[in-house]
Amino acid sequence: MVSRPADYCPHCGESLETITFDGRERSRCPTCDDVVWHNPVPCASVAVVDRSRAEPAVLCVERAVPPGIGEWTLPGGHMEAGEEPAVAAVRELEEETGVAVDPDTLEILDATSMPPRNGKHVTTIHYVADWADAAGELLAGSDASAARFWSPATFDASGETFRPIHERRFRAAAAYFE
Ligand SMILES: [Zn+2]
Repeated sequence: MVSRPADYCPHCGESLETITFDGRERSRCPTCDDVVWHNPVPCASVAVVDRSRAEPAVLCVERAVPPGIGEWTLPGGHMEAGEEPAVAAVRELEEETGVAVDPDTLEILDATSMPPRNGKHVTTIHYVADWADAAGELLAGSDASAARFWSPATFDASGETFRPIHERRFRAAAAYFE
């Protein structure tokens, strides 16, 4: 299995041929006589919502790495092999913001397939958490250059850009506990 379309067999290095199998075009190694499966990569994110404010605000991070450097998004990233999705979400949250949340307190907001980038497809489980259940000190790290709470209204007035593929979830998370 590969996360981007492969030209060569990952086992023997042979050039792959294209076949149609199960109604889709697949890459197949003529030497190994095997399909090289191209599958999406699972990711997890979590929107921590501060409900104590006049307008609920969501903990967001500014991306320090491609894609979308300088764009705001929700903390998240790739799941490790064998890792539960909620555990992956809180691990990424702590790496990027310093904030710790018990994975058992997470609720599922959405589960979506993201538009592919350079042939890499990502499927993300999006969680929400209550800031009242969080611990730790807010400090940007890892793939984030800044971390702060935004309400949709203050974000709209800021002139900042939200990562387009995640903007709908940011707004849904802000309204989640209402
Ligand atoms: Zn092969």
